[in-house]
Amino acid sequence: MPKVSKHLNAANLIDQVCKCLDEIPDHRPNHCPNGIPFPNFAKSAFAMMHQKYDSLLTFDSDRADPVILHNLATMYHVQDQKVPCDTRMREVLDPIEPAQFRKPFKKLFSLIQRNKLLKAFEYQCGDLKDWYLMPVDGTGLFYSGKCRCQECCVKNKGKPNEAYYHNLLGGCIVHPDQKVVMPFAPEAIVQQDGDNKNDCEQNAIKRYLAHVKREHPHLKLVILLDGLFADNPTIELIKSYGWHFIIVAKDGNHKSLIEAMDALCDQEQLSYHKIIDEEQGTRHWFRFANDVPLNASKLTQNVNVLDYVETDSEGKRHTWCWVTDIELTKDTVEAVMRGGRCRWHIENQTFNTLKNQGYSLEHNYGHGKQHLATNLAYLTFLAFMVDQIQEMASPEFKKALKERARGVRTYLWKVITRVFLSWMLEGWDELFDALIYGIKPGRVQINTS
Ligand SMILES: [Zn+2]
Repeated sequence: MPKVSKHLNAANLIDQVCKCLDEIPDHRPNHCPNGIPFPNFAKSAFAMMHQKYDSLLTFDSDRADPVILHNLATMYHVQDQKVPCDTRMREVLDPIEPAQFRKPFKKLFSLIQRNKLLKAFEYQCGDLKDWYLMPVDGTGLFYSGKCRCQECCVKNKGKPNEAYYHNLLGGCIVHPDQKVVMPFAPEAIVQQDGDNKNDCEQNAIKRYLAHVKREHPHLKLVILLDGLFADNPTIELIKSYGWHFIIVAKDGNHKSLIEAMDALCDQEQLSYHKIIDEEQGTRHWFRFANDVPLNASKLTQNVNVLDYVETDSEGKRHTWCWVTDIELTKDTVEAVMRGGRCRWHIENQTFNTLKNQGYSLEHNYGHGKQHLATNLAYLTFLAFMVDQIQEMASPEFKKALKERARGVRTYLWKVITRVFLSWMLEGWDELFDALIYGIKPGRVQINTS
């Protein structure tokens, strides 16, 4: 298990996030100097996501409560007890360039690195010793037949059922043995990326990978992707960055690759490996070849292909096929399989948590005309990142999770919100002390003054 660190507790993580939000330039023309300080808009929205409010309206109803005003100041650095109303929050966050929200992600990531948290994510495979698995995938955020902003992708263009939607790409560092993930800043897929879903995602991923390379030039990554991305330009880009890849191959997308494998099979040129796990009652069967053309084009990349079948203790078979640039041998196929299967962590441990386990990534907090939907999604990812780091390395979070919530983190988040809404707190330390040691019972005192 990774070491715990006082630098990775809620107080410090949120302090770092807020310092980055303080630096976003104020775009308001001639704003009143006595009005709401500009950073309060992003900090209030971040607090709303971190406390897992499911709508801006509910947050708006709470914002005059003296307990919440106090706690927004002590725990989220919202200044002068000035919290914007829902309409003003939408108006002011809308024009902010989404790139402005990348900085806190980078800041948190450097904290993770400095505190050696990445050690627990190191991936070993053959000669690869301290590499990291990074799945990247797209997910839906918003869908409407009416609302539209300048970033909306359009479905059924020009038809009566024309509709507008937002998707984004998310990526994170994962490990087969880790429950938590370490996310990077997401990337919005915007209308300008192309005319159809596939084009959009393929263009957006190039931008996504370029951002990660620019911000983390020395990070050694094995990129895990769905078959949609197994095209020559994406593979070339990954290689040009000095990274590796493990990409799902599917019959539909990779007809000639599957045919090439069948031909090699007929010529008895494939290699095989088998592992029997007596303890779990599972059997792992591998069939592989190196240096196979990805597709029928003359300029295609050659890839290494791994077919894998798992037979579980009840006799059910599960099959996968991946293409990779990691050399496949009897010594590496198991690690490549374990790495390839980790792609699931972006779906299950990231998008599912963000949509169904407390955060409300798909809820419509507001759409705006320019970047509002994207900016609010960035802040949701940021809240998720703070919580993932805490869960992995904050001593008080781990203690509260074990002793107050019996290990159920969604329950712990609910209790955190309950205490945040009910008690005036001097900061995060006091909140966690309250969770771990309990709050003395007392009668409600009615204020009739
Ligand atoms: Zn839109």
